[in-house]
Amino acid sequence: MAERQCSICSLAILPTDSTADRGGELVHLRCLEPRKPATRIEPPLKNHRDVRGDPICPACGRGIDRGTSAVARTADYMVHLECLLEARRMLQA
Ligand SMILES: [Zn+2]
Ligand SMILES: [Zn+2]
Repeated sequence: MAERQCSICSLAILPTDSTADRGGELVHLRCLEPRKPATRIEPPLKNHRDVRGDPICPACGRGIDRGTSAVARTADYMVHLECLLEARRMLQA
């Protein structure tokens, strides 16, 4: 039996792979998942802490200093305001 190939990545589809049907073509389920922009903010969002205990912005990975004024805060996390605006721009694009 001919090896089945994913029409997105052209790699073989193994019996153990999760697959999806895309317009009659068999593809890996993982290949269907959209590529994520680097600054896209993903749930669940949490702030990691840096060595000083300051929260780290989940969007850009830089620390949020206590002195930083432009910070957006939700119930669960804090993010630089500029990062939030950038993420919104990308989501709308
Ligand atoms: Zn694939
Ligand atoms: Zn940031």
